[in-house]
Amino acid sequence: MSKHDQIQTENLSVTAIDNIDREWANLLSPGRRQLLGRSGLLAGGGLLASALGAGKALAQVVQGDGAAPPPGPFEVPHLPGHSPWGDHPEREAITRPPGFRPNEDPLPAKPRPYTDIKSYHAHIYFNEDNYQKAALLRKWSAERFRVEMGHWNTKPVGPHVTPSFYFGFSNEQLPVIVPWLQLNNLDLTILIHPNTDDPRSDHLYYALWVNRAQPVNAFDMKKPGKGQPAVEQIYPNTHPTLKPEV
Ligand code: ZN
Repeated sequence: MSKHDQIQTENLSVTAIDNIDREWANLLSPGRRQLLGRSGLLAGGGLLASALGAGKALAQVVQGDGAAPPPGPFEVPHLPGHSPWGDHPEREAITRPPGFRPNEDPLPAKPRPYTDIKSYHAHIYFNEDNYQKAALLRKWSAERFRVEMGHWNTKPVGPHVTPSFYFGFSNEQLPVIVPWLQLNNLDLTILIHPNTDDPRSDHLYYALWVNRAQPVNAFDMKKPGKGQPAVEQIYPNTHPTLKPEV
């Protein structure tokens, strides 16, 4: 493969990732959906339009009540008995689900002290296509910062759903490491989370993301047990030889 081909392949993969991110952004943005709906783009056979159409057909079947066969290309068999979910699910009240975020319900009396943050982790995610970028970022980081560098994990570990490595750093390093990672993310996805006495919230609700976000399966994380430090400790193990470029 020539150097030119390699560059082209790299550009193609970035474009594909960009397109996936754009699709998610469109799906998650109600304003964007309204805009598409008004312009008729969705009505012309888009994903949402076909989902709405399927829902309408289903409502007709449900409201058929057995008096007449439901419209459509197939017959729905009539079995004796009733669904445990009732005969008229369309009448069920739609209510707001209970909140599950900490301190959200009821509203907190005062803000949580920022001094509860004892240190930070940066988790750098990679895959089989971009691991060399992650390896370069790992090398650059260790050369420039006195941090706690963790293992190179080629499989998901803990709450992290893709291969990753992490480094831990002190609060004092935050004003340099965050902008440094912003400008040197090499198109990788990076999670920066604080370390407080609540690891579940640290990963799920207190996170900063560089470049883009991805799922973190930290829903079952617990506070440290008795005999363990209340907050995860950082033990620097790198031996920097360079200063960050300015
Ligand atoms: Zn972490």
